Amino acid sequence: MTDTSSTGPTTDGTAPEAFDHVVVGGGMVAATAAAAIREAAPDATVLVLSDDVDAPYTRPALSKKLWTDPEYTEDDNDMGLAGTGAELRLRTRATAIDRDARTVTTSDGATVSYGRLLLATGGSPTTLDLPDDDRVVYFRTSADYRRLRALSGGQRHVVVVGGSYIGTEIAAALVQNDTRVTLVFPDEVLGGAVFPPELASSFERRYEEAGVALARGRRLERGTADDAGLHLVLDDGSTLDADAVVVGLGITPSVELAEQAGLTVDDGIVVDASLRTSDPLVFAAGDVAMYPDRILGRRRVEHVDNAKEQGPLVGRVMAGSDEEYAHTPYYYSKVFDLSYEAVGTIDSTTDTVVDDKGDGAAVAYYLSDDAVVGVLLWNVDEARDAARAVLAEGSAVDRDSLVGRI
Ligand SMILES: Cc1cc2nc3c(=O)[nH]c(=O)nc-3n(C[C@H](O)[C@H](O)[C@H](O)COP(=O)(O)OP(=O)(O)OC[C@H]3O[C@@H](n4cnc5c(N)ncnc54)[C@H](O)[C@@H]3O)c2cc1C
Repeated sequence: MTDTSSTGPTTDGTAPEAFDHVVVGGGMVAATAAAAIREAAPDATVLVLSDDVDAPYTRPALSKKLWTDPEYTEDDNDMGLAGTGAELRLRTRATAIDRDARTVTTSDGATVSYGRLLLATGGSPTTLDLPDDDRVVYFRTSADYRRLRALSGGQRHVVVVGGSYIGTEIAAALVQNDTRVTLVFPDEVLGGAVFPPELASSFERRYEEAGVALARGRRLERGTADDAGLHLVLDDGSTLDADAVVVGLGITPSVELAEQAGLTVDDGIVVDASLRTSDPLVFAAGDVAMYPDRILGRRRVEHVDNAKEQGPLVGRVMAGSDEEYAHTPYYYSKVFDLSYEAVGTIDSTTDTVVDDKGDGAAVAYYLSDDAVVGVLLWNVDEARDAARAVLAEGSAVDRDSLVGRI
């Protein structure tokens, strides 16, 4: 067990409550890390501080399975932290870290001490110039899911802002649940920023066929709210009235605590291959961590596979293991009948080679300086390791040789 005896007293002179491990953040990394610590060190005390109102849950289901599988409930979506023996404090925000005293101060005025500290704070959603109103949803949490459920259905009109995975998944989820949907996105073709043109067209067609109204090449600029609903203004001056608006425009990594504590931060909390920050007693993982990927180089990954792999690893390292993170994560999404996965950098401004597999399946290779930097698997299963192998080659590739590789 970690020694916590050298931590200092609180300002009123009483000793802070001591834990071997303190985890800040109540998301997917927090749940998997806490479980791994307790498994590796069953006697270790673990405290999870979460500003959420719900115990950790599987976030991807909030925009997919909870809408498309009537059998699947929020209870099924709970990640089971309660069964690990870790202590969870909900509605509790960590507000400051004192690395000399090895303490964390929380929003309820308490101070706890740690032997090892994990920062798994994820990110906060990008906001727009919209009123502070219950009908404006910056979609991220289970509470947001419940709110959107209450605001949708019954042929109500929901405007979804953002053409990346959260926006496209929510638009698909809503239109399949008796809701009129307008999707506002800046690209000329939905998915055009990430998919090669032929795949973007087939992606967009699914939305048209499902009845989603597409506001192409548009951004939401501002809006007002009254009893009748929301009144939204797009960047070309056109207007939309809606019963609710969902914004899915990405996140900013939550690095404030790390910055305040004087840890190295560079578009994320900088960690080494063992997910240690510049302080050997403090770790970071998941969406917030800038880590060295063995194949792709230093990066921050905002995807669930990364969270589910880094969480257990950082937990084991905190409990004493000397492992390093050797996994190159993939990303996945599902909308309508389409399931796609990607490894590496998916950006349609790079050169692409598309290998059409027929029956709506394809593999797209993204090239930069004649090296493959990303692979997209379009309705293709069980090919992630093959994609990683192509990426690991790194050096100049013969374009023609790519067709048929996967
Ligand atoms: C709707 C949705 C759908 C998604 N779908 C996919 C998908 O299909 N495929 C995919 O690859 N990825 C998907 N993701 C991304 C994936 O869920 C994240 O990558 C993953 O949850 C990251 O885990 P994390 O623990 O790093 O952060 P999070 O799960 O975001 O958890 C961070 C937690 O920290 C808390 N917190 C932050 N600061 C503090 C503080 N100071 N004190 C206390 N608590 C704090 C936050 O409230 C939050 O609970 C999706 C995300 C969302 C929101």
